[in-house]
Amino acid sequence: QSFKSVALIVGVTGIVGSSLSEILQYTDTPGGPWKVYGVARRPRPTWLAKSHVEYVQCDVTNTEETISKISPLTDITHIFYVSWMGNENCSMNAVMFQNILNSVIPNAPNLQHICLQTGSKHYIGLFETDTPESHDTPYSEDLARLKQPNFYHNLEDILFEETAKKGLTWSVHRPALIFGFSPCSLMNIVSTLSVYAAICKHENKPLVYPGSKASWNCFVDAADAELAAEHQIWAAVDPNAKNQAFNCTNGDLFKWKHIWKVLANQFDLEMVGYIEGNEQVSMEELMKDKDSVWDEIVKKNNLMPTKLKEIAAFWFADIAFCLENVLSSTHKNRLHGFMGFRNTYTSFVSCIDKMRAYRFIP
Ligand code: NDP
Repeated sequence: QSFKSVALIVGVTGIVGSSLSEILQYTDTPGGPWKVYGVARRPRPTWLAKSHVEYVQCDVTNTEETISKISPLTDITHIFYVSWMGNENCSMNAVMFQNILNSVIPNAPNLQHICLQTGSKHYIGLFETDTPESHDTPYSEDLARLKQPNFYHNLEDILFEETAKKGLTWSVHRPALIFGFSPCSLMNIVSTLSVYAAICKHENKPLVYPGSKASWNCFVDAADAELAAEHQIWAAVDPNAKNQAFNCTNGDLFKWKHIWKVLANQFDLEMVGYIEGNEQVSMEELMKDKDSVWDEIVKKNNLMPTKLKEIAAFWFADIAFCLENVLSSTHKNRLHGFMGFRNTYTSFVSCIDKMRAYRFIP
């Protein structure tokens, strides 16, 4: 088969990487037909095996390994960088991205465009550092960088420098909280909440909201993983999207209090929600001894084997459930021609449906 475009997805098993790998294989995907290389550190998961991705198991923090495994892929035309190392270390995250670019740029003569995924932390600062300043909402793409270290700045600087040298085009994608189905993501809020709900069900407990009152009531924005993938493919092929940073959201807003009802329905649980007067309780703390409970749920329901710490990121839910007023502006995409949108509640349910279909959750 001859291909019009060749993608390298770095982080192919991640929350957006897995959706990219699916969508790039459809015959009507813009820029197609696409050949797809996908990189991740762990062995190819069985659930990805059905797809046509040419899987490259590679630890991209390791420079020699990356050069030896990625530089032979000389037909790459587009890079989709949807990875991070799992902590916010600036230099190591930069090394990962630089290793990829050093392996591809000198060796792939038809390389055209590089998509880099960062996120709303561009506007609010990193989770691991106390943030003395952040921008007022809604965040627009042209806001100045916060004056504090942020690995997103390091990644952007590498992107700008390397693409300028070779006359390549780039796009930066800043999704809001992502709703996706991957069980290999370091931050999947839908799988985290589904696992929490499944544990409540297993223990015959009602679905209590452990977050803050403010987060229960405020507006939040999200980005469906498929939409985020479509957004990157659009930027990769549409001349109007070149050399720009774009926020990526579903285009609507939601509230945790409404999602909570949906979650309770999905798992047939008594819905309690936020208990008036309660302070936020850490989900990570609540769930810290539940590894064996999850193992039991997996066994009882004949699920794909996963470990609690892999499929659920309770620390991430703790952050999501204390944030308020983190909203991104959505104009710029539309002005440049991207009209994609999702209903966030439908997106939430379709991620649960998909995780069930793959037997990741009961
Ligand atoms: P995920 O955590 O979902 O996926 C990470 C991917 O990268 C996995 O495929 C993982 O594979 C791979 N990976 C990690 N380390 C290595 C390594 N050393 N070598 C090779 N592959 C590796 O990624 P996200 O999409 O969540 O994150 C990408 C960016 O998006 C980050 O900057 C994040 O902050 C941002 N973002 C994420 C949001 C979210 O809700 N998840 C929201 C907004 C922005 P393996 O497990 O095998 O190592």
